[in-house]
Amino acid sequence: REWCVALPKVELHAHLNGSVRDSTLLELAKQLGDRGDIVFEDFKDVIMKNGRSLPECTKLFDLFHILTTDHDTVTRITKEVVGDFAAENVVYLEIRTTPKNNEAKGMTKRSYVNAVIKGLKTVEDVDAVLFDSNLRPDETLSCTPQGDLDGDTKKKIYVRLLLSIDRRETTLAALDTVNLAMEMKDQGVVGIDLSGNPVVGEWETYLPALEHAKELGIPITIHCGEVPNRKEIQAVLEFCPQRLGHACCLNDEELKKLKSSMIPVEICLTSNVMTGGAPSLELHHFADLYHAKHPLSLCTDDSGLFATSLSNEYYLVASTFGLSKAELFRLAQNAVEFALADDNVKKSLRVVFEHAAGKGL
Ligand code: IMP
Repeated sequence: REWCVALPKVELHAHLNGSVRDSTLLELAKQLGDRGDIVFEDFKDVIMKNGRSLPECTKLFDLFHILTTDHDTVTRITKEVVGDFAAENVVYLEIRTTPKNNEAKGMTKRSYVNAVIKGLKTVEDVDAVLFDSNLRPDETLSCTPQGDLDGDTKKKIYVRLLLSIDRRETTLAALDTVNLAMEMKDQGVVGIDLSGNPVVGEWETYLPALEHAKELGIPITIHCGEVPNRKEIQAVLEFCPQRLGHACCLNDEELKKLKSSMIPVEICLTSNVMTGGAPSLELHHFADLYHAKHPLSLCTDDSGLFATSLSNEYYLVASTFGLSKAELFRLAQNAVEFALADDNVKKSLRVVFEHAAGKGL
C-alpha cells in the first residue's frame, strides 16, 4: 500500500463533488441543517456510512447539489480535493465538474466555474499548476512534482478542468457548457465530459452539443456502458470521443469495436463494483482490457463517495489481478499519454516518471 502511495499517479476521472471528504460533507450538511435547508438527520447516516448502495449515492448527489449553490463552498471543496490528491502523490489531476445555474442564489455556470478556479488558485501547502503560462520554458523539462521524493515538502500537482454535461440537461444547457469550456480554455479547462444518472436522458439530446465541441476542437470524454443501453453504447463508440469512462456493460461485439478503436478507458474499479457496473473486483473488465493491451488509466470516480483513493485503486489492481510493481508503474506512466493537457505538461510528467524510476520506484 505504501508503495502505491509513493508511486506518482495521474488521475483522469474524478468528479469534484464526489471527491469531497466525509468530514467536510458532515460539517456542511450540519450547517445546512441548522439553517433549515435540509433535515440533517436524513443525511447523517448516509454520510457516515461506509459502502454505500446506489440509491444512497444518489441521495448524496442530491445533497451535493444543495451544497454547491454557494460559491465559497465550491471554492473550499476544490481546495481540499486538490490538496487530498496531491497528498497521495497524484502529479496530474483532471477534475471534472458540472457547471451549475442557480438564479435564486446568484450563481451562473460561469460564476460556478470561476469559484472552482479560485479554489485551484488558493490550494494550501501544494503548488497547484493550473495554467501553462505558469510553466517557464526551463521548468518544463526540469520540474519534478514529487516534492516528497526530492526531499522538499511542497508537492506539485498539475490540475486541469473538464466541464461536465449532466444527462438531465437540455440541448441548450449542454451547448452553454460547451461554449463556456471554449471561453475558459485559457484558464485550465481542457475538455467536456458527459455524465449523470445513466438511466436518465437520451443520447440525441446531448449529441448536438458534443458535435459542437468536436467542431470547436474541444476533447470529449463520455461515460459509457454504466448500464446495458445497447443503442447508446453503439452511438458513443461511433462518435469516437477522446476517452471513455467505465465501459462496463459492453457485449462481445462492442468490446471488439472498443478494442479496435484504441479509445483509452478510464477504469474505476471500486465505483463499478459498488454501483453494480461490474459483478465483482475479480470479474471486472479491467483484466480483459489489460490483457488485450488496451489503453487504460486507473481512476477513482468519486473518492469521497466510494471511500477510496487512487493509491487504493492501484493496490486493488495488484491484489486482485496480481500485477507486479513494474506493471503498476507502467500503468501509471502510460496514463500521461491520455491526459488532455498540452505537450509541455506531458513532457514534464514524463520526466517525473523517469525521475521516479531513477529513484528505484
Ligand atoms: P459534480 O459534477 O462536481 O457536481 O460531481 C457530481 C456529479 O458527477 C453527480 O451529480 C453526477 O452527475 C456525476 N457523477 C459522479 N459519479 C458518477 C458516475 O459514476 N456516473 C455518472 N455520473 C457521475
